[in-house]
Amino acid sequence: MAKLTPIPRRGILFVMSSPSGAGKTTLSRRLLAEDRNISLSISVTTRKPRPAEVDGRDYHFITQDAFDRMVAEGELLEWAKVFGNCYGTPRKPVEAALIAGRDVLFDIDWQGTQQLAETMRDDLVRLFILPPSADALHDRLIARAQDSPTVVAKRMAEAASEISHWAEYDYVIINDLVEESHKQVMAILTAERLRRRRQLGLTEFVREMTRKL
Ligand code: 5GP
Repeated sequence: MAKLTPIPRRGILFVMSSPSGAGKTTLSRRLLAEDRNISLSISVTTRKPRPAEVDGRDYHFITQDAFDRMVAEGELLEWAKVFGNCYGTPRKPVEAALIAGRDVLFDIDWQGTQQLAETMRDDLVRLFILPPSADALHDRLIARAQDSPTVVAKRMAEAASEISHWAEYDYVIINDLVEESHKQVMAILTAERLRRRRQLGLTEFVREMTRKL
């Protein structure tokens, strides 16, 4: 049987937010590895790179002057100050992906998500990831060798403020078992891709079909 040509559709802006330690990085890596139609939006930041981070892969590390210039020129789709550093999403790659029908994954905080909701509401799908409990979050932060006890305490306090924004999201996953959560992430993406308004080629597809009936 001939393979069906995919119906052209508009891409999705898929935002995943969570407090640090809730398992967002693991889930986004799983998603990116499994699904070839979604790619990660690489943010610009004025924060210094951490030892394992690579410029251009984890972030584009830039100076405050360069960041301010991007803001002034309207080159950022959204931006925010998080823990004293500036972070922002370059506009051009996102717009190109949307038009080409490719989805974009964002690891951004609630402030950036609110800005995207103001300007790109129809393309946006917002997912919030919660830890299963405060104890679990604490254990996960401790298990990360990279963070000292003071950093862990600070991140626990920050978690409370990030979590307070959970109700601004379309979907919420309580990330207890990663395997289960990953399936839930894929289910959300699959359903959102099937939304009628995103399948731009449907009218043409149905017209062609009914012509032959
Ligand atoms: P980190 O410094 O640990 O990589 O990130 C700190 C926080 O900044 C995380 O909550 C992350 O989601 C957020 N963040 C990273 N990139 C962006 C961005 O481009 N825009 C916004 N609004 N937040 C970001």
